Amino acid sequence: MSQKEDVIRCSFCGRTAHEVSSMVAGPEVYICDRCITDAAGIVGHETRPPKPTGASRPPARRTEAGHRLSPIEIKSSLDEYVIGQDQAKKALSVAVYNHYKRIDSAQHYGDYADVELEKSNIMLIGPTGTGKTLLARTLARVLDVPFSISDATALTEAGYVGEDVESILANLLHAADFNVERAERGIIYIDEVDKVARKADNASITRDVSGEGVQQALLKILEGTVAGVPPKGGRKHPEQSLININTSNILFIVGGAFDGLADIIAQRVSTNSIGFTAGQTKRMDKFDPAIFSYVEPDDLLRFGLIPELVGRLPVISALNALTPDAMRNILIEPRNALLKQYQKLFSMDGVDLLFEESAVDAVVEKAHKLGTGARGLRAVLEETMLDLMFDIHTKSDVAVVRITRETVEHKAEPILEPRKATA
Ligand code: ADP
Repeated sequence: MSQKEDVIRCSFCGRTAHEVSSMVAGPEVYICDRCITDAAGIVGHETRPPKPTGASRPPARRTEAGHRLSPIEIKSSLDEYVIGQDQAKKALSVAVYNHYKRIDSAQHYGDYADVELEKSNIMLIGPTGTGKTLLARTLARVLDVPFSISDATALTEAGYVGEDVESILANLLHAADFNVERAERGIIYIDEVDKVARKADNASITRDVSGEGVQQALLKILEGTVAGVPPKGGRKHPEQSLININTSNILFIVGGAFDGLADIIAQRVSTNSIGFTAGQTKRMDKFDPAIFSYVEPDDLLRFGLIPELVGRLPVISALNALTPDAMRNILIEPRNALLKQYQKLFSMDGVDLLFEESAVDAVVEKAHKLGTGARGLRAVLEETMLDLMFDIHTKSDVAVVRITRETVEHKAEPILEPRKATA
């Protein structure tokens, strides 16, 4: 494929002039505004002496990347990658903005010097495949801070078979290339936190290895502690020296699908309405796609989370089940939308990949039936594209591959358009 290279690109990140606000030119090199900001952040970080404390002005508006993004900026960056889920994006943007303000507030000596800002860890509740992990991951990318994902189901109370809670911090330390200072300002996403809920029918005569004990351990790192972390992860061994990590400035985002929570919310809302709004009985349908937006801390306690843990997760945000329209957008719109990813793969074999409108509809319909959110999209596409990807590189005479509804539904041959002979 011939691509004319008269486009001006940043020599550092490769973005074109259209993708950035401004570009500075040097002798045969260009640098974009984003890279300038990043570079200024790095230089400032490394060479500037620490600010004298005692200044009454708030410290400069900066994060690691050299600039503290406003909630509006954070949300609009999230918009580039994540479709819909507006409420969750707003809540996250504000929580993150406040989180980094809170970190800076240690040096703030203004009128509110003695007001201590509490940490705003975040809980994301929503069905599987609706973007919880994607939101957390995108956030870390936008903020340019280390990010790690851990699974709560792998954790057990210290002393039992399974991973210690400290392994979560070891993952972050890895992501920060063992730079403790960077790790201490990172973001940790803990998935499947609903799976460590105390089971209502678990009489606590026996030790609760996977439930309450793990919640207690999580609680400690969420609220802020100095934890001894085995650098290689895994369990603590006496012969392994530990690295101390202070978790008070680490932002924790926990997520889960919370199967069964919808019943609890629906029941509460319906019961309440009998007592307080007699006459206008409000019935809540547990299948309402927005049911989680009615969640209250009490519902989480009834679900089996311990009150102290819920107390440490002051920002609770709900993600909605994806509608077919949202799924369609997910296929096409985000910066690294799935269709764009396949198109890139094919373009590397010199082939233009096109999806007919009706083929896109068919992918969405099939994926929606799977009930695994946007995860289903990839599953359907992989199935559709497998045979093609297997041998497209051998078809050097093909210029365009056109995917039809029939290809998606019945694996019919896509339309192959031959390369035009050059004169
Ligand atoms: P979960 O809610 O289970 O954590 P993920 O965030 O891991 O779901 O989503 C799985 C995949 O589905 C992601 O890699 C992403 O490609 C896609 N996806 C899910 N939700 C969205 C969304 N709202 N916008 C864009 N892509 C999404």
